Amino acid sequence: DETILDKARRWAQRDPQRCAIRDSAGACRSYAELLADAECLAASLWALGLRPGDVLSFQLPNWSEAAVINLAACIGGWVCNPIVPIYRDAEVAVTLADCQSRICFVPGQWRGYDYAAMAERISAELPELRAIVRVRDPRGGGLSYEALLEQGRGLAPPSPERCADAVKLIMYTSGTTGRAKGVLHSHRSLPAAVLRAATRWGLGQGDRVLMPSPVTHVTGYCCGLEMPFELGTQTVLMERWDAAEAVELTHALRIDATVGATPFLKELLEQAEAAGSSLPSLRVFACGGAAVPPDLVRRANATLAGRTFRVYGMTEAPLITFGIAADADAELAAVTDGCVNGYALRIEDPVAGGAAAPGTEGEILVRGAGLFLGYADPAQTAEAVTDDGYLRTGDLGVCGEHDTLTITGRKKDLIIRGGENISAKEIEDVLHRHPDIVEAAVVAMPDHRLGEAVCAYVIAREGTAPTLDEICRVVQEAGLARQKCPERLQRVEALPRTPSGKIRKDILRRWIAEAGG
Ligand code: ATP
Ligand code: MG
Repeated sequence: DETILDKARRWAQRDPQRCAIRDSAGACRSYAELLADAECLAASLWALGLRPGDVLSFQLPNWSEAAVINLAACIGGWVCNPIVPIYRDAEVAVTLADCQSRICFVPGQWRGYDYAAMAERISAELPELRAIVRVRDPRGGGLSYEALLEQGRGLAPPSPERCADAVKLIMYTSGTTGRAKGVLHSHRSLPAAVLRAATRWGLGQGDRVLMPSPVTHVTGYCCGLEMPFELGTQTVLMERWDAAEAVELTHALRIDATVGATPFLKELLEQAEAAGSSLPSLRVFACGGAAVPPDLVRRANATLAGRTFRVYGMTEAPLITFGIAADADAELAAVTDGCVNGYALRIEDPVAGGAAAPGTEGEILVRGAGLFLGYADPAQTAEAVTDDGYLRTGDLGVCGEHDTLTITGRKKDLIIRGGENISAKEIEDVLHRHPDIVEAAVVAMPDHRLGEAVCAYVIAREGTAPTLDEICRVVQEAGLARQKCPERLQRVEALPRTPSGKIRKDILRRWIAEAGG
């Protein structure tokens, strides 16, 4: 029933000088320093009038200040709302308004963008927002993080009553399938799955974790900002992904583990291959967030000294799987998303409802372990969570041997053509192998005879123009049924995406509807 604050206090007492977090600014922040800063910050925020339950936002890159703010929120009983740094005016304004944020921490400027000016611009429309706090802003002006720390020195930190089941985090989903949803986690729900996965990966006290994923997203938040307090690991934050720098840091700091998206693994592998290194210290690479190609995992497991774990999770339920070690089963490590991580799972027939036949594809429902408390909007919770407490993930998957799970697509991506279920992902995987196709996205389009038919959006390689006939041939040559051949091909210059790069199929479907089906 402890919060990370209780744990932070214990580490600070036991081992005050030990480094908990370091960022690109170089300096190591020890447990004692992080805690002392967090107490000062909490004291001045309390003096500003922030009270338990109030929402505190931070839109920060991977800076160690984020860890201090997160700890300070725990001290004051405030709800943390991390916002990814790639978001701009409209997205940030919607987020702050939706969670009725009281205070927002932003960099002065970062990578050439003036976040402080953006926050000022949108604040006029946000009556609940009382203050914008600038972090690392050499220009001065406004309220600064550094000044708040200073003001808090000598003040007693607040100590409201705390409860492990209280809401500690409101984090928004990526908005891939529509409007981003506010996900609520408690002090208890959030670490449950992460701790279990870390143990399965063999991580513990003293291990160094390189964190290139944003700490404002669920993976970076759990495994970057909180793991040092939960487990005694050390986080090495990267401000932006750079494969060469990642290799350097891994050698120089003897990094034990990292957690990141598919492109990170691919580039790290290429960089290591080019340098003729197997990155001997790196024991774990946990890779997920989107599909991880089996070939990439096979190559990584052959080349790198450590093990690559394919993981599956979501903001609502982090680390639903933790992967499977290649030395336990090399093929399962490559072709499945690994073993279920302490969650209870149910697979339902996506069309008829009810349990899917064992070993067949269906919608994944999860309960237990790290499951969220619910969405900020109770109507969304009522829609997504069953009476017996299972979350409908909206993802499709198949359960296999050794308690493994393989993600096969998203339910909304299913095309039901003449009663036949067709997976968009299966067709996309084939199209991606076509030399003239840079990227493909397959969606359902209404069809008066079949109900739905297959429509493929593709970005063609420059100077080429693949035709419908050609792509149909590719689909059939790959051994897929003729029914899976797209009935319509739309060549486009670009695909609509979320700020984090996932394709917005809801927009593609709207385009089709607007064009008259
Ligand atoms: P929204 O819920 O707003 O539509 P989102 O689901 O993309 O956005 P996140 O919570 O960031 O927001 O992403 C979780 C989703 O990412 C999962 O539901 C799943 O669809 C996808 N995903 C995560 N890991 C994997 C994986 N290993 N393989 C395939 N897809 C994955
Ligand atoms: Mg989702």
